[in-house]
Amino acid sequence: MKEEFYILEEDCEKHYAEAIYKSNNPKIEICELCNGRRVTLTSNLQVYFEGKKKADYYSVTQYSIISENMYNILKENNITGFDTSDIHVTGCYDARGNKIDFDTNGLREMIILGNCGFLRKTDGNLIEKCEKCGRVKPVDKEDVIGLKISIDEWDGSDIFQFKNFKGVPIVTQKVKDILEKSKIKNVTFINIKDYKLD
Ligand SMILES: [Zn+2]
Repeated sequence: MKEEFYILEEDCEKHYAEAIYKSNNPKIEICELCNGRRVTLTSNLQVYFEGKKKADYYSVTQYSIISENMYNILKENNITGFDTSDIHVTGCYDARGNKIDFDTNGLREMIILGNCGFLRKTDGNLIEKCEKCGRVKPVDKEDVIGLKISIDEWDGSDIFQFKNFKGVPIVTQKVKDILEKSKIKNVTFINIKDYKLD
């Protein structure tokens, strides 16, 4: 059977609370060849929450936050390719900016460890990238519909990412089935064959 792969995203239509990134002295490196920026956290991911509806998954720029429930389900099913780290929550607010009670216990950052090489189009060819840092220029992302995993470059993890598309989780059919069956809140899956890179 041919393996299917999916990009894991927030389900924006369900109006769950949002986690919003709050910068916390990250390390910023500029590539000398393409001028691309690389941002690396130097301490725990810092966020605040806006909204009342609790989810199991929150995406925050290039980072993912998961609930204890989602963490336990992944662990119980021996899902590989990720680690977790504590997060720092600076506050929780409603849409008007008023402070609210919002349970953030057990939330943690999901750090993707698995990898599958550099971005490839559905025909298997690499997408043009910087030779030094691997960044794909925004202009080269335009019109790219559909990606392909090179099975030779994939490390076999259940959760993984492209080396030059960091923080965007890709999951196997097995992970998709488990999360859907467990009714994990605020996740949606896009087959990488249909994913629009732009
Ligand atoms: Zn570069």
